[in-house]
Amino acid sequence: MPAPSPLLGPDDPAPVELCHAAGAAPVLLTCDHASPVIPRALAGLGLAPDLVRQHIGWDIGAAAVTRLLAPALDAPALLSGYSRLVVDCNRDPEDPTSIPAASDGVAVPGNRDLSPEQRAARIDACFRPYHAAIAARLDALLAADRVPALISIHSFTPVMNGFARPWHVGILWDKDPRIPVPLLAALRADATLVVGDNQPYSAREPAGYTVRHHAVARGLPHVAIELRQDLIADAAGAAAWAARLAAALAPILARRDIYRLARY
Ligand SMILES: [Zn+2]
Repeated sequence: MPAPSPLLGPDDPAPVELCHAAGAAPVLLTCDHASPVIPRALAGLGLAPDLVRQHIGWDIGAAAVTRLLAPALDAPALLSGYSRLVVDCNRDPEDPTSIPAASDGVAVPGNRDLSPEQRAARIDACFRPYHAAIAARLDALLAADRVPALISIHSFTPVMNGFARPWHVGILWDKDPRIPVPLLAALRADATLVVGDNQPYSAREPAGYTVRHHAVARGLPHVAIELRQDLIADAAGAAAWAARLAAALAPILARRDIYRLARY
């Protein structure tokens, strides 16, 4: 008897994209909200396609920056394949908002009244493969006696609840200053930039799932970087910001003393 039809069909993309797989640096880039794609079987979650391509569906520009930053740092990158409206790869799957019934004031019809089986199908198809790939990559480096650094790339909408966010970039961190503090200093060396320190979100309330589950739990050096979406929405902007981040990060990632396990 055939197995029940899986959530992902033959025309759906993979739940995780590996970019610059041969990257030799002991650094892993992640992009939790890389894609606005919804599995065909979910019929767009009942939303207009152009709505899903706005910030509620994904981190606009973040995947483009991540794909360029990976070769620039000679680091592999893992990008999630599906929209955060399907299941948010940066939230604990136990969190009721991991499959949001509404996002930034927009109701998501396809997320209403899901059964435990429907929730589990999304987590199994879209969340677990992405996080399993991250864990496998980090654990392979640790098994080879190399302590990897984790760099999580996100983007934020320029306006939220009527407030125009002034930051160009935000560095999110909590107890591990190894990458964030010198990165803040490097970015602030450019006086034209407005650099947020735990803005527009704080990593202290608490950190996103990816950083917490993979980096904090293992004691790895890490940082989450938030880029303002209007600055990276086109190819030229994404390239400029990937180059800027690469220049700021390279001297920090070249320091051997950051690659140690920390206990918080
Ligand atoms: Zn994000």
